Amino acid sequence: MQYIKLSNNIKVPQLGFGVFQIPPEKTKETVKQAIEVGYRHFDTAQAYFNETQVGEAIQESGIKREEFFITTKVWHTNHGYEQTKKACQESLKKLKTDYIDLYLIHQNIGDIFSTWKALEELYEEGKVKAIGVCNFTPSRFTNLSIHSKIKPMVNQIEINPFYQQDKKEDFYKQYDAVIESWGPLAEGKNNIFNNPTLKEIGLKYDKTVAQVILRWIIQRGIIVFPKSAKKERMEENYNIFDFELTKEDMEKIKELETGKPIADIDDPMFVESISKFGV
Ligand code: NAP
Repeated sequence: MQYIKLSNNIKVPQLGFGVFQIPPEKTKETVKQAIEVGYRHFDTAQAYFNETQVGEAIQESGIKREEFFITTKVWHTNHGYEQTKKACQESLKKLKTDYIDLYLIHQNIGDIFSTWKALEELYEEGKVKAIGVCNFTPSRFTNLSIHSKIKPMVNQIEINPFYQQDKKEDFYKQYDAVIESWGPLAEGKNNIFNNPTLKEIGLKYDKTVAQVILRWIIQRGIIVFPKSAKKERMEENYNIFDFELTKEDMEKIKELETGKPIADIDDPMFVESISKFGV
């Protein structure tokens, strides 16, 4: 496994496993399979309603807690200083652990600064080993970084071949932050697995479209955690450290940019719709 170091020297396995849209009743078995494949980094959230089952799978694996890297996120209906502290306590309980490796603000809506103050304190108390945000545009990330005691160490944003956020990895370096890619496989949308460019690149290395995409993200120095409910795909997605894309391959992938995200976080309609979703 390759690792990415955060600004506080915490090491993150660069490839992990995401559990968004895995129903709670299937999550324990799915995470157990992912652990068997070799995944040790899991990305969940309060709003995925499956933290309990992620915790059970990890506990029942018999593997030491320190060998795992667990991320979870606070949902906006728990934003605010007191509520965030309470939400973190609930996540710790559900995950059956006394620390979270990375704790994130899930959506950039509501009272961000009080929420961030709670994250800073949870970090100082050692309840969470690293803190960050998701879905912050560069300007909002800059605002939070400049006006906080502790800068966010991570921004988890949408990155896939159709929405690449080109060179954002360099932008965040100025704030000592790293990027995580959500929706790396574009959630399977827009016929991505039949994309001719990605297929052609894959043929050269005897690799699938999913493997080419994940390798492209890894080579950009970005952390990534694809989701799959199928064990053979978990294996496929894990098997990406035995080949390397050339500069020319990377340039060809650049041409797939559409400028259209799955979720337009800067669109007022998105903010309205996400604001209605509670936990
Ligand atoms: P994704 O990983 O881009 O795509 C998952 C889809 O691709 C599923 O339909 C899966 O189907 C399919 N798939 C996976 N591997 C495949 C393969 N090798 N070949 C063919 N199809 C394959 O989507 P995502 O789950 O949205 O993103 C990954 C993680 O990012 C999430 O699980 C979550 O942890 C995180 N995330 C965060 C946010 C945020 O706002 N912070 C938003 C979205 C996601 P099967 O399951 O049937 O294999």
